[in-house]
Amino acid sequence: MTEFAAIAAPAAPRSAELIDGKAMAATIRGELRETVAKLAANGTHPGLAVALVGEDPASAVYVGGKIRACKEIGIRSIEARLPADTTTAQLLELIDQWNADDNVDGILVQLPLPRGLDTQAVVERILPSKDVDGFGADNLGRLAQGRPRLVACTPWGVMEMLKRWGQPSGWTPAGKRAVVIGRSITVGRPMALLLLSADATVTICHSRTPDLASAVRQAEIVVAAAGQRHLVQGDWIAKGAVVIDVGIHRGEDGKLTGDVDFATASQRARAITPVPGGVGPMTIAMLMANTVSACRQRRGQGV
Ligand code: NAP
Repeated sequence: MTEFAAIAAPAAPRSAELIDGKAMAATIRGELRETVAKLAANGTHPGLAVALVGEDPASAVYVGGKIRACKEIGIRSIEARLPADTTTAQLLELIDQWNADDNVDGILVQLPLPRGLDTQAVVERILPSKDVDGFGADNLGRLAQGRPRLVACTPWGVMEMLKRWGQPSGWTPAGKRAVVIGRSITVGRPMALLLLSADATVTICHSRTPDLASAVRQAEIVVAAAGQRHLVQGDWIAKGAVVIDVGIHRGEDGKLTGDVDFATASQRARAITPVPGGVGPMTIAMLMANTVSACRQRRGQGV
């Protein structure tokens, strides 16, 4: 071995490229600000109504972030903070008012609702044309049929990240083996449907999936949305896979972590999202995008 080779030899494993959701979300908000300014010039002002029931601190932080994003982009926001003892009937009445209000283009009820409230009834009461969370049967059904209208913000944000990250190299999900961990109505299911629509071959895993590790080892795209801190270990990740971490967990030290063990996974993945600064900011950006598109759909594409 030459002296040069000895010096140059064993290189540390290369770390994955970071998929910077924070930067992408800022770009999308900038694009939306321009669209909203054009709409305003034509006398159209998109509006989002948000209901927060109870005192859950995490929900209050999420709602605060959404209202701030509205302000930044120029979307009018209406916020209703309701006590934890609000009844389902009272919440349905508020939704009925917003459904009938022509100034409201999007309605969002922050989940989870306090125990005792009928989440399904609340979600289904929102007019499909104003269902900017995309959780209702109409919008989810349309997605399943491959003709989406308003798509759930988190999985749509993931698709937008994959699109924007892949664009320079020509990478797309088409033809890739994708594993989605989680089958919730809000994240896992719509995520799987979106990847399917993008021509990936999709496997959905959940808490009853035996040998999750070997399912993940087959995947060229991994979306972790299980709500289990560091569930996905680095040695589960196939070399060169693209890893999207949807999970959010706040540790006792206040730090946020995800469903993926970032330190080890980033040594094997081609690209990976950080937590924080990955999927979270994209979720809010896509909520804003949904509000603008709900406004355009309701008031005609020309506005
Ligand atoms: P959820 O409703 O609790 O669903 C979790 C899913 O993961 C379920 O389908 C569950 O399976 C599955 N699961 C749980 N433990 C598992 C395990 N050990 N192995 C395999 N699958 C497992 O949660 P969610 O609302 O979808 O959210 C998931 C995570 O994403 C949470 O950490 C949440 O905080 C986060 N989140 C982040 C954003 C964001 O903007 N970044 C947005 C939404 C959610 P079963 O169906 O069998 O129970």
